[in-house]
Amino acid sequence: MKDLKDSNRKLINSQIINGEHEITAFPYQMFIDPSNLCNLKCPFCANFARRNNYLKEGTNPLMSFDVFKKIIDETGPYLTKIIFGDKSEPLVNKDIYRMISYVKKYDIYCLLSTNFNLFEKKHAEELVLSGLDCIHIGFEGTNQESYSRYRVGGNFNKVIENIKALVETKKKLKSKTPHLQWAYVVFKHNEEEIDAAIKMSKDLEMDGFGCIPADIYNIQENYKEWLPKNEKYTKYRIHRSGTDIKVMHLDGPSCVETDIKDLKIPCILPWTMVSIDSNGDVYPCNCGDVREGKGFGNISRSSFKDIWNNNQYKEMRQFLLTGKKTTENSIYCESCYTANKSELIFSK
Ligand code: SF4
Ligand code: SF4
Repeated sequence: MKDLKDSNRKLINSQIINGEHEITAFPYQMFIDPSNLCNLKCPFCANFARRNNYLKEGTNPLMSFDVFKKIIDETGPYLTKIIFGDKSEPLVNKDIYRMISYVKKYDIYCLLSTNFNLFEKKHAEELVLSGLDCIHIGFEGTNQESYSRYRVGGNFNKVIENIKALVETKKKLKSKTPHLQWAYVVFKHNEEEIDAAIKMSKDLEMDGFGCIPADIYNIQENYKEWLPKNEKYTKYRIHRSGTDIKVMHLDGPSCVETDIKDLKIPCILPWTMVSIDSNGDVYPCNCGDVREGKGFGNISRSSFKDIWNNNQYKEMRQFLLTGKKTTENSIYCESCYTANKSELIFSK
């Protein structure tokens, strides 16, 4: 299985370098949402539907195990990494432990991204035995007041208790996995607590701590309240000219992984990864703001292979390769920051 994954990854790289928009390689990374629901109400949640109180008609809030199995049976032999929880809370779906165990049969590195409020201690052994490699626990601050400023509806002490239970269970089962990583989204109100939180993570015997620069929607309006002062924790820069103030986006998506040197195109995600929502809708990336329910096809009605090379996908790859549209239709990436900085670096 490893040989197939390695050769697929090499094929992806060569198809990107050769500028191919119709590709035979499969993605090696997948984000998947077992549910479209969440128990919290974070103000800048990347789930467009939730942020705007909008749910597409007919949207299934929980992915069925059958749909999940169909996706993994087709793509699993090629995937090297899967992330449960892109724009929702994966623990809402009670099949989550079964899903993780199923993924591990395909020798895929498996990561769970969660706010960890809904975890129940009675599932601790099941979670450890599922084979999960890593768990990213998204929480910030060192007390309830600071925490719930962003994680609206969350319970700080519950998260801490759940971490302790999982650490104890790992010890009991003599398991090194899942690695417990504290994913600390940095805002103005919590940047002063980072050192104390790092100490807390060590006391809790967690395996790692990472600061995540926040996505702040309506940045021109919201930067005063939310943007950290320390520039190393943000993906925005403030430019002042006279009395004018502009806040600019600094970086593209943080999930781009590549071993291609001198990459000439602004984004390779439509070749390397895929994001699938609870309804089975397929998206080329996990960019929240451009998504707006514009899926490229649905896995319950088509094979992944057919969606992966349909016209929408081919037109989008062509746009990223050349910077030019070959269609009157709107292109998914047109309004994305990453694609728009392409003018600076296009070579073709
Ligand atoms: S915990 Fe995550 S999915 Fe839930 S509202 Fe917050 S950002 Fe969105
Ligand atoms: S919208 Fe397009 S350019 Fe932006 S991150 Fe997604 S795939 Fe890349």
